[in-house]
Amino acid sequence: MQCRVIGMWGGFPKQNGPTSGYLIEHQGFTVMLDCGSGVLVKAQDYIDLNKIDHVVLSHYHYDHNADIGAYLYSRLVNTQIGRADTVLNIYGPESESFRKEVEGMLGSRFNSFDDTTSLTLGPFLFEFKKNAHTVEAYAMKITCEDKVMVYTSDTLFTEDLISFAQGADLLIAECSLYHGTDGSRMGHMTSREAGILAHHSQAKKVLLTHLPHYGNLQDLLEDAKQQGNRNVHLAEPGMLIEL
Ligand SMILES: [Zn+2]
Ligand SMILES: [Zn+2]
Repeated sequence: MQCRVIGMWGGFPKQNGPTSGYLIEHQGFTVMLDCGSGVLVKAQDYIDLNKIDHVVLSHYHYDHNADIGAYLYSRLVNTQIGRADTVLNIYGPESESFRKEVEGMLGSRFNSFDDTTSLTLGPFLFEFKKNAHTVEAYAMKITCEDKVMVYTSDTLFTEDLISFAQGADLLIAECSLYHGTDGSRMGHMTSREAGILAHHSQAKKVLLTHLPHYGNLQDLLEDAKQQGNRNVHLAEPGMLIEL
């Protein structure tokens, strides 16, 4: 499997730099993880939007779902003009209003999940862990053949993240805050906590994501690495990881 970072900024996009969005692909089957602000523009550098039929949303915060409305319009219009003939499936935590919004649109369908769901999408098996965040949010573990990828999405550091991410070939860990900041009210991890997760989970490769718009990002990286796992990197738009 491979994973392409489309965007990795926390909160709001930078010029040509979207917020959260990733494409995972195996043997021509692609799933989008999160669809934040700017993701729909940047994703088209890599794939025709009509070739993606599955989008998994970790939670309903704009930096993770702002572009989903535009994706619904894209599938609506492309269905009407005969360029798309498959359904766009959106997966997310249950939400009556969001379900109505998606299902009211020609060409799209809503499917909810929670932490008891095992979801098979093509070659990928998805499992979920409920996070400690300001709204209902989920970390996801994606297994494809003998490879495992874990994406924390937005969360406080909690011990159960370590077992959830144990031994992952790729861990994409949110790192919203510099060490010394209190993330408890915001439901986010610091670089120290992301580093502790990286080390104790024994993840083989780690990307720090959901990065802040201030400070020196190298400080985040160094602080995380100092916790013991040296194979830690800052996520960048367009980055491709082969597993
Ligand atoms: Zn976020
Ligand atoms: Zn959030």
